[in-house]
Amino acid sequence: MATVLVTGGAGYVGSHACRALAEAGHVPVCFDDFRTGWRAAVRFGPLVEGRLLDRAALDAAFAAHRPEAVMHFAALSLVAESVAEPGRYWRENVGGTLTLLEAMRDAGVGRLVFSSTAAVYGDSDLALIPEHAPQRPTNPYGATKLAVERMLADFGAAHGLRAVVFRYFNVAGAAAEATIGEQHRPETHLIPLVLEAALGRREAIVQHGDDYPTPDGACVRDYIHVGDLAEAHLLGLERLLRGGESLTANLGVGRGYSVREVIERARAVTGRPIPARIGPRRPGDPARLVCDPALALAELGWRARRSDLDRMIADAWTWAQGAGYDA
Ligand code: UDP
Repeated sequence: MATVLVTGGAGYVGSHACRALAEAGHVPVCFDDFRTGWRAAVRFGPLVEGRLLDRAALDAAFAAHRPEAVMHFAALSLVAESVAEPGRYWRENVGGTLTLLEAMRDAGVGRLVFSSTAAVYGDSDLALIPEHAPQRPTNPYGATKLAVERMLADFGAAHGLRAVVFRYFNVAGAAAEATIGEQHRPETHLIPLVLEAALGRREAIVQHGDDYPTPDGACVRDYIHVGDLAEAHLLGLERLLRGGESLTANLGVGRGYSVREVIERARAVTGRPIPARIGPRRPGDPARLVCDPALALAELGWRARRSDLDRMIADAWTWAQGAGYDA
């Protein structure tokens, strides 16, 4: 049983990781500033309210809770926003993580599970993208995550930090009992927006681009259930607690769906018509991102178990039909 500081623990993926940690008998200490996280998502352990760029707040959290490890989710994560406001992304994602790593070094905490992204690959010609594929991010979001990965390697060499880095593909779904789920303000992610259209809360879903070099012209993504993602984080943590080496691994299923296919499946799962129209491409979007998940299986024994697209949409639908965190 370990105490784990979870930055961004009140956000979508972070809260599901806290839930998985608590279920496994660990103590997740949520560190969040609630700019994008939700107080009602903090249900699984203690809370420290603070900003990543606030070194004193981090030092106080390490002193008060003495964590054995950190899971680091807190970040800005919207592709289009990162293209428009790169400075904020470099400051918060890279500067924020640097502050965290120095606080960890000085507190003697040498284990980190880090939330990276498939956006580090950028446009790839490969049908399935392995970890050694070229890393050429097409947007500042991906560039900042890649910069952090390099920073982790440097801190590893100099200070002995051991890190498990997960490059997520597209996260979807919610905890089955839907006490926590995906809620962003504004919402920009495909499946929540499709479900808002299903509920009549928005007029239509706009497909960003239909002239990509893919079979139906829409972007193709690999969708992974947030519960599967949380489970991988637990395995990554356990590897580090056992003394295992650093690792960088993709988390995805190995199967891609186009935006058009996702909308089609959502119509079937919800039984609602879901109006859709075509809009322009979204700046920074690669055409196709599909994961080769073999390394996570080989190194962690992890595979996606809940990531059938219909199930992810169904779990997100249960959550979307509830009151969310506004209740
Ligand atoms: N997308 C879309 N319409 C929307 C939101 C997203 O067509 O209203 C597309 C987007 O261009 C991308 C895919 O859906 O190809 C997944 O986008 P999302 O924002 O969910 O995740 P990202 O791939 O940016 O991490």
